[in-house]
Amino acid sequence: MFYCLIFLFCLISGTISGDTKSPRIVIVGAGAAGIEAATKLLENGFENLLILEAEDRIGGRVNTVKFDNYVVDLGAQWIHGEKGNVVYELVAPLNITAHSVPNLPDVYTSTGELIDRTLSNNLTDAYFDLLYMEGSPVGDKCENSVGECFENKLKEHFMRHPELNETLQEQFLWLFEVTQIGFDPADSWHDISIDEFTNYKLCDGDQGVNWKERGYGTIFDILMKKFPNPEEELPVLNKTILNSEVTKIDYSNEDNEDNTVKITTLDGSEYKADHVIMTSSLGVLKAQYETLFNPSLPTKKIRNIKGLGFGNAGKIFLAFNDTWFDVKESNKVGYKILWSKEERQRLDSNPKTRWMPYALGVFFVEYKPRLLCIWISGKGARLMDDVSDEELLEQSEQMLYNLLSKDYNVSRPIAMIRSKWHKNKHFRGTYSFQSLETRRTNSSALQLSEPIIKMGKPIILFGGEATNADYFSTVHGAIGSGWREAERLINFYGKNNGKNVGTK
Ligand SMILES: Cc1cc2nc3c(=O)[nH]c(=O)nc-3n(C[C@H](O)[C@H](O)[C@H](O)COP(=O)(O)OP(=O)(O)OC[C@H]3O[C@@H](n4cnc5c(N)ncnc54)[C@H](O)[C@@H]3O)c2cc1C
Repeated sequence: MFYCLIFLFCLISGTISGDTKSPRIVIVGAGAAGIEAATKLLENGFENLLILEAEDRIGGRVNTVKFDNYVVDLGAQWIHGEKGNVVYELVAPLNITAHSVPNLPDVYTSTGELIDRTLSNNLTDAYFDLLYMEGSPVGDKCENSVGECFENKLKEHFMRHPELNETLQEQFLWLFEVTQIGFDPADSWHDISIDEFTNYKLCDGDQGVNWKERGYGTIFDILMKKFPNPEEELPVLNKTILNSEVTKIDYSNEDNEDNTVKITTLDGSEYKADHVIMTSSLGVLKAQYETLFNPSLPTKKIRNIKGLGFGNAGKIFLAFNDTWFDVKESNKVGYKILWSKEERQRLDSNPKTRWMPYALGVFFVEYKPRLLCIWISGKGARLMDDVSDEELLEQSEQMLYNLLSKDYNVSRPIAMIRSKWHKNKHFRGTYSFQSLETRRTNSSALQLSEPIIKMGKPIILFGGEATNADYFSTVHGAIGSGWREAERLINFYGKNNGKNVGTK
């Protein structure tokens, strides 16, 4: 019986050991930040660590899944930039990625009329010139929101192009708004602070490097050193417990153990640690900061959790038996949708179709020629989460037919897979951005990243994309934040491999 109890205790406590003299580290979340933190700690001799992951898989917002005969990414899909991008630097020598093609989607009205290509290309160029303007487009008429700024600048462009009638102007403004809230996932571009442009650091180079036949999930094999040489794999997975949702992080130290943090999971298991690295999404922090931590977080931390923006994006992948679309045309990436005001109002009147006007377009999927992907921006993705798979398939099919059947033999999809990021309580959305509230409350990723220190010791550390001041909202930003927090602990223990410094 005694041995049974010991065995049970070992099971409940996972693999973290209280006997050793090396610090006990619990990482909450096995996304890019958590996996990178674990990898870096292991490489530096900190072996007394455990990752608690709420989902039944690692990867977090990188989720590469099988679909049809391919794999697709329901979350992160492209490596954004090359220079200074840790992901690109890791994959560049491996020859497993490819560069994007020149981006010239055709623009169709939602009722199937192709917009003159010169007209739509000129307008799209005007918009992207604003987007990629050196530094920030702050200045004349650009003080508050990205929406206000872009609207004013684009209206100046319209004045110089009398061939654009008012209807087209209005429709293109909506298209650009839906494009912009695809990058910075606010509900409206009037809620994206112009600071987003000053603070986010663009890595130079191709913004759409793809993973060819693979998916972004390959990055985890690379981080854990399983790829390209499986023999070098670090034991990160051995130290990960899946289906283990953390419900309480108690750093009150009520049981008088010196600075020990008590972590409880949904199934009632308890773990003790000297340090906790929290890497859940900002969406999870927003929804749960009041119940997750005891004592409650400092006021400044709460201000930042509330002040930073966290929004939504969604994807619907459709598989076809044939490639009835122009996938072989090398300079095309798909078809963008121009929604009329009347159509938007009509769709908005039905809760089941309200997501549709936020569909930015229908895109080819690199190296997966029989697939199309509908990208849904911002609020639309949140609304879409409430629509069933059956309804969504029917609506997507209809949308595609309305959009392209005048020019193509649109065939019926044979399968569909869709994302549901907002509804999932382990994410509550997709990625962070800087809103007007961020500016009003003077919040920042840097402040969100500050650890909670007790008696000179960082006991609760914060990682995750939203804590990266330069590269928030991206996978490379998440990895950078995991690296940073591991480094914080490595430096704290004076690079002595974490040995002989524990609290027991
Ligand atoms: C649709 C979509 C498209 C995107 N496109 C791109 C792209 O093309 N390029 C790019 O660079 N980035 C993209 N991103 C953003 C990128 O995916 C994220 O920035 C990055 O993956 C975040 O990693 P993370 O480790 O910070 O957080 P996460 O990946 O969210 O990891 C946190 C982990 O914590 C777990 N967790 C949460 N709560 C708990 C709890 N209570 N207990 C235990 N575990 C918990 C979660 O299950 C999750 O696994 C996209 C994201 C989405 C959703």
